[in-house]
Amino acid sequence: MENGPRREKRLSFFLILILAGLAAGIIVAGYSYYRNYAKNYWTAVEQQLAAISDLKVGELAQWRKERLGDAAVFYGNTAFSALVRRYFEKPNDSEASGQLRSWLQQFQEHLLYDRVFLLDAQGVARMAIPDTPEPVAAHLLKEAPEIIRSGRTVFSDFHRDAPDRPIHLSVLVPILGGGTDRRGVGILVLRIDPRTYLYPLISRWPAPSRTAETLLVRREGNDVLYLNELKHEKNIALNLRIPLDKKEVPAVKAVLGREGVVEGKDYRGVPVLADIRAIPDSPWFLIARLDRAEVYASLRERLWVTVILVGALLLGASTAVGFMWRQQRVRSYRERAKAAEALTIQRRIADTFLMISDDEMFNEVLKIILEVMQSPFGVFGYIDEDGALVVPTMTRQIWDRCQVPEKTFTFPRNTWSDSSWPRAIREKRLVYSNKISTQIPEGHVDIQRHISLPILFQGEVIGLFQVANKGTDYTEADIRLLQSIAGSVAAILSPRLRRNRAEDALRESESKFKRLYDSNIIGIIFWDTAGNITQANSEFLRIVGYTEEDVLSGKVRWKDMTPPEYAPLDEKALKEMAETGVSAPFEKKYICKDGSLVPVVIGAAIFKGQRDVGICFVMDISARKAAEDQLRRVLTDLARSNKELEQFAYVASHDLQEPLRMVASYTQLLAERYQGRLDDKAKKYIDYAVDGAVRMQRLINDLLTYSRVGTKGKPLEPTDAHSALGEAIKNLAATIEENRAIIINDELPTVRADASQLAQVFQNLLANAIKFRRKDLPRVQVSAQDQGREWVFSIRDNGIGIDPQYADRIFQIFQRLHTRLEYPGTGIGLAVCKRIVERHGGRIWFESEPGKGSTFFFAIPK
Ligand code: ADP
Repeated sequence: MENGPRREKRLSFFLILILAGLAAGIIVAGYSYYRNYAKNYWTAVEQQLAAISDLKVGELAQWRKERLGDAAVFYGNTAFSALVRRYFEKPNDSEASGQLRSWLQQFQEHLLYDRVFLLDAQGVARMAIPDTPEPVAAHLLKEAPEIIRSGRTVFSDFHRDAPDRPIHLSVLVPILGGGTDRRGVGILVLRIDPRTYLYPLISRWPAPSRTAETLLVRREGNDVLYLNELKHEKNIALNLRIPLDKKEVPAVKAVLGREGVVEGKDYRGVPVLADIRAIPDSPWFLIARLDRAEVYASLRERLWVTVILVGALLLGASTAVGFMWRQQRVRSYRERAKAAEALTIQRRIADTFLMISDDEMFNEVLKIILEVMQSPFGVFGYIDEDGALVVPTMTRQIWDRCQVPEKTFTFPRNTWSDSSWPRAIREKRLVYSNKISTQIPEGHVDIQRHISLPILFQGEVIGLFQVANKGTDYTEADIRLLQSIAGSVAAILSPRLRRNRAEDALRESESKFKRLYDSNIIGIIFWDTAGNITQANSEFLRIVGYTEEDVLSGKVRWKDMTPPEYAPLDEKALKEMAETGVSAPFEKKYICKDGSLVPVVIGAAIFKGQRDVGICFVMDISARKAAEDQLRRVLTDLARSNKELEQFAYVASHDLQEPLRMVASYTQLLAERYQGRLDDKAKKYIDYAVDGAVRMQRLINDLLTYSRVGTKGKPLEPTDAHSALGEAIKNLAATIEENRAIIINDELPTVRADASQLAQVFQNLLANAIKFRRKDLPRVQVSAQDQGREWVFSIRDNGIGIDPQYADRIFQIFQRLHTRLEYPGTGIGLAVCKRIVERHGGRIWFESEPGKGSTFFFAIPK
């Protein structure tokens, strides 16, 4: 918008340039046309002059020839000469005089001679036709003797008989004597009045012209003499002489030998154009001439026509350019008016943004835009954080017609169709049409024409304008106006949306915090480094037994509530906060209002940008502490009782062995000593007693082993599982051989373990694997698997298998699934294994399919 005037200036400049170009073209064309015309015109004039003088020269030459021809009729005409002689000699010879008169009369009348007369040798006029008395001209009297003597016809040029007499020309024909007498007897004078024929012949001009004329001149001494009457000055003939040194005069040029077209000044001193010709066989020169002024006059006329034409063309061109300029001006006025309108609108919109609440604001802005765009329908929405289009308002008509509820409406992105406004937003460009371009869903307004314009801010779409159904087509100007409005709205809308979003976020986080604050899940206080508590929630008050009033009165100070032995912890936390802003949670105690101590976990943070105020959460851990104390007590009790039990088991098994050995040995002694004296029954009883004692002994041994796992265990050290297995196999050599068992082992790792106990585990598991065999020869596979944090050992057999329901039972002490008769044993092997594995921090379990074999697993942590 702001570069409007600049553009206008540029355009004006451009138009002026066009105009200058046009004008130059027209002027050059006019000028060259005129020049060309003038050149052609001059040539035409010259040609005309030449043609006219050609014609005249011919006529004049012819005229002179005719006149001499006339003379020839008499010259040497013996009959005529005789008649004249006869008449001269006998003037009263009426026949001769009558005949002569009639001849001359005929001649004079027919050939238009002014006067035909006869002179005798003495110069006396003897007969004249017309017969009027007239003295003989002096020059005739002078010339006559010479003519008579020479006997040659003479053409007597223009002359006056006397200064006041008219001009004549004459042909003087000598009348020859008869017979041998060649002497002339007289002269026949054929006098010509040039006014009758010659002058009209000369002055006739075949074309209409004001100044054109023909003149006849001849040289006379150092002058040029004008022979005929002229158009412009009277009494010229034979009167006007111009000296030969006036070389600019065409007549002078003529007599000095120039021929053809010349320019010069005539007798009046006026510039003329002349064509000069010499008339053959005469002293005459013909000059056809024309005032240059006349040529110029006609040229000037043409010049004027040309100038007028050029002027008209210039006027036309400037009118056209002026019209264009005006159009442009009008357009630019319109544009400026539009710009001014846009500015007003932008101000109105800015006001609306400032003064009106959000929802109303959208409505109001839309109203302004619809009014400005003369559109009955429209939409003004913004894009929310999720990218959905939120339309707080539409025009009433749209609400009514589309049955859209009157409230903010959100169009999530995944519901957008491919219609105009989603396209405008997706493609970040204006989409507009003056036709129905989309299928209108049922119940929607029939969109005839529309402009959908995304509101862009820093390259991002932040909102949308849509206007529709203006009465006439949307124009470029409408689009520009809407774009300019969108531009200014963007600048206001963007910060507004951002602020709203920030406010929403703040509100949300505040409400979340408030929920936490009020929830009583945790105690929360606001504190300062001086030791005050400025605010506390009810959970905190509950923990320490104070009231809100106590807090508000400033009585409750966290420093005072902290027993001196915890003060260093607080100091540490404050230091930590000074550095990082937060302190790691730690346990401490507070002195409650009633003086009791309450154990708590607290964690605190300094407010951002502040140095001495912060927030702190306080968790009451008295229940946990109590539980922990309880647990500790139980554990201590348990340990003690376990210890006692172990002690008892050890003592019992150790102390019981002695009396048992006695029972067994004395019973055996009894059986030996009284061999043969005891009946079978007594023998059988003794056998029972011995067997019982032996079994008891074994049980006690086993019990001792079991109890020793805890008491006699050695520290855990890196132990080669492979050699532990080797130890076990060595101990079981007899059993293995007896059962022809096959034991295969994979590579086994080194683990942290008590070597002899690990060997014990292998031994017990291998023994079971062989003992609980089926008919087939026992096959046992020992493997180990790295499971990351632990090694899992497995001992797989092909024995009888175990029902999984006994998964727990078989690991308990003295628990067996079979009778002694089926499979011997005390039911302590697996219990020992479990105890050992657990002492190593591991687990033991099995997988089995009864009848197919079992796999025992135990895991040892790395
Ligand atoms: P004992 O072997 O002395 O009976 P144990 O504690 O070693 O005692 O085993 C408990 C019981 O678990 C056994 O009686 C037996 O029923 C079952 N058992 C242990 N190992 C196996 C095995 N590899 N295959 C089948 N049953 C087994």
